[in-house]
Amino acid sequence: SIYGDYIKSVIRTVPDWPQPGVNFRDITPLLQNSAAFRKLIDSFVHRYQELDLDAIAAIDARGFIVGAPLAYELGCSFVPVRKKGKLPFRTISETYTLEYGEAEVELHSDAFKPGDRILIVDDLIATGGTMLAAAKLISRSGGQVVETATIVDLPDLGGSARIHEAGYNVFAVCS
Ligand code: 5GP
Repeated sequence: SIYGDYIKSVIRTVPDWPQPGVNFRDITPLLQNSAAFRKLIDSFVHRYQELDLDAIAAIDARGFIVGAPLAYELGCSFVPVRKKGKLPFRTISETYTLEYGEAEVELHSDAFKPGDRILIVDDLIATGGTMLAAAKLISRSGGQVVETATIVDLPDLGGSARIHEAGYNVFAVCS
């Protein structure tokens, strides 16, 4: 994407966090830098402004940081996809496997109308498990997943390829 190299330059790698051997990609320096944060949101606005989206579905929690300004700017609704047990109303959920154990994402059953055009956003795709679970959840609820979007893709982990193979478009600002 147009600002990809620049956005990449303001993401910090923290070695051995949250556990030894993991290089955590930390987006807080990007958020701290107002010019960078604006370029980030503008990258998404530029890509999606003509696509007539109905809703931005954002993944708990760092997806919210991107999803809220994007929904505001595009004039579409904001739908939170949350970790298990956080949503108060009737929910539907999707379970997925992690390296150790399982995780679950949830959506309110009335979050959007059947056929609505939905973009899913998160900060990062690693194994792709989280994004794929969110996409399946939205598809099951009758939403049309126009694309899945992330700030960072880690292609070596195969997540974006896996999401693509499952039939969803993937967009990453940087890899
Ligand atoms: P996946 O399900 O693709 O393996 O992991 C992606 C999810 O875990 C995303 O919701 C993302 O926020 C979080 N995540 C995993 N690794 C990282 C990382 O290095 N940096 C950030 N910012 N988030 C990560």
